[in-house]
Amino acid sequence: MQNIPFVPKAQEYIALKGFTLKDLDKEYFKPILKKAYQRIRSAIMRGIVEGEINDIDVEILSYSVAIAILAYINDKRLSMRFAIAEARRVGAELKKESDTKLLEIAKSLSWDVRKIEHIVGNELYTFAIHFCDYLSVPPPNDPYWKLVNRALINGYVLIRKQELARLIEEYVRHYVYNKVVSVGKFNPPEALINVVKEITKLWSRRQPKGEEGISGKGGRFPPCMRVLLESLKNGENLSHMERFALTTFLINIGYEIDDIIELFRRVPDFNEKITRYQVEHLAGLRGSKKRYLPPSCRTMKTFNLCPGGDDLCRKIRNPLSYYKLSSRRKMRNEK
Ligand code: SF4
Repeated sequence: MQNIPFVPKAQEYIALKGFTLKDLDKEYFKPILKKAYQRIRSAIMRGIVEGEINDIDVEILSYSVAIAILAYINDKRLSMRFAIAEARRVGAELKKESDTKLLEIAKSLSWDVRKIEHIVGNELYTFAIHFCDYLSVPPPNDPYWKLVNRALINGYVLIRKQELARLIEEYVRHYVYNKVVSVGKFNPPEALINVVKEITKLWSRRQPKGEEGISGKGGRFPPCMRVLLESLKNGENLSHMERFALTTFLINIGYEIDDIIELFRRVPDFNEKITRYQVEHLAGLRGSKKRYLPPSCRTMKTFNLCPGGDDLCRKIRNPLSYYKLSSRRKMRNEK
């Protein structure tokens, strides 16, 4: 379990080592610093922390050093990207673990989890988790995880092995992010500053280029799309429906595929390959070759994505019509 540096046993292990950041200037700690750099680099470049675990000391201590580096850089989006990348690594490892090991890890987080065998409909559930623990970490913005959509018996939510792994993954995401933001100010040793510079350079090279093409290519964005765009620009994670609505809207008002991908580069869980596939799919360039339209205002309201319309909204039934109507008006006024 020590290859998962978030469980209490691993934390005890770090404490036992008596390691401090000042040690990083020593030759012996170079591999730890190098591994911490690789962890963050992998998060930035691939969205998942990858790499062989050859030395358990290096593995666990490099996690703490990576946290210190990110705390010093103090960039909310980078910290979130790292938290997601670490969580993905843990999630991938957990899926390979036995039921017993998974249960042990979940219990070490003080969760009330039990091993069961219960069939509901045609589904076999192998774990039950107390609803309070379940509610502490459900993956965000996904109706699948909402309590009302889950099988619940005597206060316990029935889940499968993969779902327990996913909940632990989510726990890790919160844990890592909170760990970074809770580090107080500190004086970094020389060796750490060098890595901070490298990471800052790498991160700034991966930032989206310019703001061209983001706002208005003719018409006005309706309030709903302005809200979604603003969230995206702030690097917030959008739900599946929010992504669908904004992407189809942008495609249909003539945004280039690459411009849309650039916008999504801001979200912490950005993965260029997946984003490109999804955007191209919605644009009708893949699969069914169907070009999707944005959801109607009615659907937007059902999903709570309409922030309340303005005067123009009263005349339309789809955010796309808002844009078209406003561009027609603009052209008329310019004549
Ligand atoms: S009424 Fe339609 S276009 Fe206007 S903000 Fe709501 S969802 Fe968007």
